[in-house]
Amino acid sequence: MLPDLAELLADAHVVALPMRVRFRGITTREALVLRGPAGWTEFSPFVEYDDAESAAWLRAAIDFGWTSHEPAADSVPVNATVPAVAPNAVAALLARYPGCTTAKVKVAEPGTTIDDDVARVAEVRRVMGDDAAVRIDANGLWTVDQATEALRRLAPFGLQYAEQPCRTVPELAALRERIAGLGVPIAADESVRKASDPLAVARAGAADVLVVKAQPLGGITAARAIVAGTGLPCVVSSALDTSVGLGMGAFLAAAAMSPGYAAGLGTAAMFTSDVSADPLLPVDGRVPVRRASVSRELLEQNAAAPERTAWWRARLERVHALLAAG
Ligand SMILES: [Mg+2]
Repeated sequence: MLPDLAELLADAHVVALPMRVRFRGITTREALVLRGPAGWTEFSPFVEYDDAESAAWLRAAIDFGWTSHEPAADSVPVNATVPAVAPNAVAALLARYPGCTTAKVKVAEPGTTIDDDVARVAEVRRVMGDDAAVRIDANGLWTVDQATEALRRLAPFGLQYAEQPCRTVPELAALRERIAGLGVPIAADESVRKASDPLAVARAGAADVLVVKAQPLGGITAARAIVAGTGLPCVVSSALDTSVGLGMGAFLAAAAMSPGYAAGLGTAAMFTSDVSADPLLPVDGRVPVRRASVSRELLEQNAAAPERTAWWRARLERVHALLAAG
């Protein structure tokens, strides 16, 4: 079912949310939120993604806004996120995630060294204690050799997994073989961007864990079917969504995530303002599985500049035409 373009645009708003710390190379997150009969929903492919890649994100927006979903749990556990900051900034960042017993630490940031990564992970382990789960995320920026060295040095701190240490699926598979015995599972994130990717990653023996996001996999309904087919544990994460998109992720996490893992859905804490006066922030280490209420006042306050709004509406129109063409 594909709603008309006019229906999608009837109550659509483009926002630019300010962020506390640079993340994924940006300090402002743009998103288009729109309202369907089932509730508010979000279309927010990263700006560098082309229309073909963005099609799944629009399918996801429509799935959430035009279909009612039942929450499979009241709340889901979430991880704290530590960007590539100096060790002395770690404790204050972790304090934004009260009750979280899992941290995801960014590593391999351009301009930093493995020494920096080791110091940051050591500080996270020190602040959170021995019982916490600590995972790292390299966003595919290491070569196999660099990843091998980094993981050998980071393994003593106890890693739940290493997320996307290298860019390609063959590199992940090679690394996984090389570090067998180190006790560091490999998770695939950027390698899971299209619906066909999870099965390809599983078949290549490239990962022990899949990081999945509702929007790039075409929404809650599609993502549930895709991850069930892989046989690998899955961790649901956000794509730096507003609280509306985080709600979509929370419904997926409650329905599809493997027990024992925390979801990457605590990222509302990275914004200084959101589209909801009651954002999906972590409380006691968990986020509720619900649709975020949306504040018209905050939509206005965080409205993107007119030329950016025009850009997003034109993008929605093009991607809608792609879906309509089948
Ligand atoms: Mg990641």
